[in-house]
Amino acid sequence: MDAAPQIIKTNVGIVGGGPAGLMLSHLLSRAGIDNIVIEKRDHDTIHNTHRAGILEAGSVKMLTDTGVDGRVLTEGHRHDGIDLRFNGVSHRLDFQELVGESVWLYPQNEVFVDLAAARKRDGGDVRFSVTDSEVLDLETDVPKIRFIDADGQRFEVHADSIAGTDGSQGICKRAIPAEERTDNFIAYPFAWFGILTQAPPSAPELIYANSEHGFALISQRNESVQRMYFQCDPTEDVSDWTEDQIWNELQKRVDGPDGFTLKRGPIFEKMVLPFRSYVCEPMRYGNLFLAGDAGHTVPPTGAKGLNLALADVKVLFDAIEMFYATGSRDLLDGYSDNALERVWKAQNFSYWMTSMLHSRNDHSSFERKRIQGELNSVVTSRYGQQYLAEAYTGWPHG
Ligand SMILES: Cc1cc2nc3c(=O)[nH]c(=O)nc-3n(C[C@H](O)[C@H](O)[C@H](O)COP(=O)(O)OP(=O)(O)OC[C@H]3O[C@@H](n4cnc5c(N)ncnc54)[C@H](O)[C@@H]3O)c2cc1C
Repeated sequence: MDAAPQIIKTNVGIVGGGPAGLMLSHLLSRAGIDNIVIEKRDHDTIHNTHRAGILEAGSVKMLTDTGVDGRVLTEGHRHDGIDLRFNGVSHRLDFQELVGESVWLYPQNEVFVDLAAARKRDGGDVRFSVTDSEVLDLETDVPKIRFIDADGQRFEVHADSIAGTDGSQGICKRAIPAEERTDNFIAYPFAWFGILTQAPPSAPELIYANSEHGFALISQRNESVQRMYFQCDPTEDVSDWTEDQIWNELQKRVDGPDGFTLKRGPIFEKMVLPFRSYVCEPMRYGNLFLAGDAGHTVPPTGAKGLNLALADVKVLFDAIEMFYATGSRDLLDGYSDNALERVWKAQNFSYWMTSMLHSRNDHSSFERKRIQGELNSVVTSRYGQQYLAEAYTGWPHG
């Protein structure tokens, strides 16, 4: 018979050590609230997984003001705008001039490295490479997490609350009984073909391009590595594409009378990113609180996924902190409604950017022309530009 699990008593048990889980752990520890993070992957695997790259001003403030690290400011790049490009013509939206804000280009895997280092520096309890994790007794005063650590030792965490920050494929949301949650979900009939390339930047800021051949995003990483995407079929197989074919496909989506030409280089990563929008309602069940991708996913067009995860964490942290400071459960009880307010605004923005910039096979000529009208409405209206700039740089954390 297996030995009984070792019991760990703590205030908050956190399932998932991505940006949401580690940031929550960091904030809680700073407030003197005991917590443990369990993460199924190892540090280096997460470090080497390339995902989001754009941080809202509020996300940057969370990293710098709470003493995670200032690397985002020294190694990240401040972007004061983006280009919307259609009919081969670029229209720059100047975020500083429109709303007085900026975003930062700083890859998610570096955010992870900074957060993991800060947890280590501050003596945080983060268990990587765990297996067999499960959550139980969620509707009781002592919700629990069971897991086996990297050395094969079994543990049972007894907490006051559990944060489900285990991403879109995690266990926490599925632990909410189906009759207690609504899964709001749509899939899009396209995906992004993404590449990482060893090349100099083709442009100083992100270019979101709508073209008759479909969407393309020209993004950056640093001086020598660039990130680019083009719209593709969700069933596309990256191994069917040669480097020349990829570059030609990207180039024809940004071609225009200005002769804009992409700077090419060797491609060292290729992936297909399916597009989905999902929201779990409510984001709470008993003493389980979902945050980040565990509670919702957005298509990447508006660069909201990572930022939304950190915004949830701020709302959840405020609620937990109030509980330990005053004994009041008011903010915990309001957590789901409060977090969902921003989530649905971000869902709307991501959906809007996605539908305005992508083409669909079932689009009539009317719909194609209407989209041109929509893009034109944005770039010729200060109010249209301001809405996009405000949403892209991020609403204030409330
Ligand atoms: C390929 C890709 C590209 C993306 N590009 C963009 C982009 O350009 N812009 C943007 O804004 N967003 C993008 N996103 C979304 C963004 O990466 C997410 O929104 C962000 O990672 C959310 O952070 P999180 O901490 O909530 O979840 P995650 O980063 O997914 O972290 C969850 C963690 O939980 C762990 N976990 C899962 N199950 C368990 C378990 N049972 N036990 C213990 N641990 C568990 C996982 O290993 C993971 O480390 C992209 C996502 C993907 C997949």
